[in-house]
Amino acid sequence: MPAAVQRLCILGSTGSIGVSTLDVVARHPDRLSVYALSAHSRIESLAAQAAAHAARVVIVPDDAARRRFLAAWPAGRALPEIRQGAQALADTAADPEVTAVMAAIVGAAGLPGALAAARAGKRVLLANKEALVAAGSLFMQAVRDAGAELLPIDSEHNAIFQCLPQSADRARAPAQPAPGVRRLLLTASGGPFRCTALDELEHVTPEQACAHPNWRMGRKISVDSATMLNKGLEVIEAHWLFAMPLERIQVVIHPQSVVHSMVEYTDGSILAQLGQPDMRTPIAFGLGYPDRIDSGVGLLELTRLGRLDFEPPDLRRFPCLRLSLDALKQGQGACITLNAANEVAVDGFLHGRIRYTQISAIIERCLGDSVRSGVYAPASLEEVLDLDAHTRRLATSYCQAALG
Ligand code: NAD
Ligand code: MG
Repeated sequence: MPAAVQRLCILGSTGSIGVSTLDVVARHPDRLSVYALSAHSRIESLAAQAAAHAARVVIVPDDAARRRFLAAWPAGRALPEIRQGAQALADTAADPEVTAVMAAIVGAAGLPGALAAARAGKRVLLANKEALVAAGSLFMQAVRDAGAELLPIDSEHNAIFQCLPQSADRARAPAQPAPGVRRLLLTASGGPFRCTALDELEHVTPEQACAHPNWRMGRKISVDSATMLNKGLEVIEAHWLFAMPLERIQVVIHPQSVVHSMVEYTDGSILAQLGQPDMRTPIAFGLGYPDRIDSGVGLLELTRLGRLDFEPPDLRRFPCLRLSLDALKQGQGACITLNAANEVAVDGFLHGRIRYTQISAIIERCLGDSVRSGVYAPASLEEVLDLDAHTRRLATSYCQAALG
């Protein structure tokens, strides 16, 4: 029986994940169609995407973006409905016309849309890891309550999902670790500064930090990969996705980025998923699930690889990884603080306002403040966003102080 056509809402369609998603979609007109696309700044790209994929709806942030969209729209083509503002992202994710939502906005800004998709019982393809870091328990509960389907797109979590027992309910937010599983082994490339002398890190530039050895990604996640805060976010993400306690998640440095992650079983078996470092593989997995569909990714020639290396991470080199593990131990409030402080600090670094080594220092200060003020565990989206906004103000003042 042919699979039903998925009608997709792609939140963040102009980003790295969004563009890769549309690349896969274009290969499968028989089973994938675009209903809605959203963008925040690259509005001309959004217009080109919407025209090429015959999107019915686009979401832009404000009036100025709406005017840019109209100016860029090709004459003679039927105009899509233009929705506007942050609330439209959540409303469209929950739109009855939509069957699957790709959550690919970067940062905590992606949380309301991803959560709305879960609450509406959609198939959620989750690239936006910050949603789980900031609101893991809320998000997973929403998936369970609404009977949504949650498919991890982050390559490590997608690899783990593929290596877990093939139970029928594994996309339904399990509340217990899968039976027979001892540990999850999350691989990390170590980023561009894996071998840089420690005393040189103070002087590295945004361009160096964004030059990832294996993956082409947006600038924020590229800096997170350099600091390994990204792997910290991914440990928290794995904790929520697979109901796995922190002590049963191990980070392993694997510079080649060929083994995307592994599941270790109680009988001593380790299952791994291997592939090219190309996000179209996990994206195609999510779009086709449970079928396997063509992603456009080339073959992995094992005989040309030569070797695969593995080593433990050095927490002195990567203080952001240590801070993330501490935040998960402290609880949900600390994880929100970690994420928000990092978003502000990374933006400060990318715009030349602070040095690379000040990213971890600013996060540590914000986490210290949150411990002193006894941060609570937020129980609603509003409380999560309040604490997120509070931390952003604090981190912004620390960035300004770092300037002086
Ligand atoms: P990107 O910066 O390339 O794209 C971000 C997208 O989000 C853009 O479409 C942008 O318009 C939109 N956006 C940015 N700020 C917004 C806001 N305030 N409101 C609404 N929309 C906004 O980022 P990316 O690399 O595609 O990453 C997207 C998400 O996927 C991130 O959460 C990242 O951690 C995750 N992810 C990315 C990769 C990768 O290979 N790029 C891999 C794994 C996970
Ligand atoms: Mg990843």
